[in-house]
Amino acid sequence: MTEPATLQALFGGTFDPVHYGHLRPVETLAARLGLQKITLLPNNVPPHRPQPEASPAQRVKMLSLAIANNSLFDIDQRELQRQTPSWTIDTLIELRRERGEQQPLGFIIGQDSLLTLHKWHRWQELLDYCHLLVCKRPGYAENMATPEQQHWLDTHRTEDISRLHHFPAGSVFLADTLLLPISATEIRQRRRAGLSCDGMLPEAVINWINQQNLYPAQK
Ligand code: ATP
Repeated sequence: MTEPATLQALFGGTFDPVHYGHLRPVETLAARLGLQKITLLPNNVPPHRPQPEASPAQRVKMLSLAIANNSLFDIDQRELQRQTPSWTIDTLIELRRERGEQQPLGFIIGQDSLLTLHKWHRWQELLDYCHLLVCKRPGYAENMATPEQQHWLDTHRTEDISRLHHFPAGSVFLADTLLLPISATEIRQRRRAGLSCDGMLPEAVINWINQQNLYPAQK
């Protein structure tokens, strides 16, 4: 009999641009859970929502610079190749089909995303396809906004790491990850104001942003 495969992790985001608030917490999560690989899934933003400033190709380029020489990460561009809005549920259904019914899958989100999860397309089905691995994010409430949402969380929450590795889906794990008060919005605003973003994202990404004159200062 073959051993059940261990947890494979996926991390979706706009990454406009990728920053240490994305990378560092998930690195600590990987160490805690024994993750071998985290697949970054840059997303397509639906046409009715404010569009990222960087193009899909630029966002992918920044991701590749950020993870160069770091074998923990790889990039899956499937959502950018779709013509339709990138609903996470559709990606998870596709990944589940590809990786098999028994493969444990973990979808990583920050605490802010957990608090608004009920607004995601078909959110109640997400746990049919994956576990949710939640990273802390400073400035966001610890509790869900309504008793119903809190009940949902309490029902699915686990602190048992072996469940994540031995069941294909179904649990929410609130991880004790590094708290980094960084957001892509703040980085774009600082660039616009001509302020330094040193230490907020990898130097190679900053250099490339400068070369491309992305998020330019406004006079
Ligand atoms: P923006 O400011 O443009 O909304 P963002 O910095 O929140 O962007 P996203 O690409 O939207 O970055 O985030 C992708 C995922 O990373 C989300 O699940 C989000 O919760 C998580 N995330 C982003 N920044 C942090 C952070 N500093 N700490 C923990 N999680 C984070």
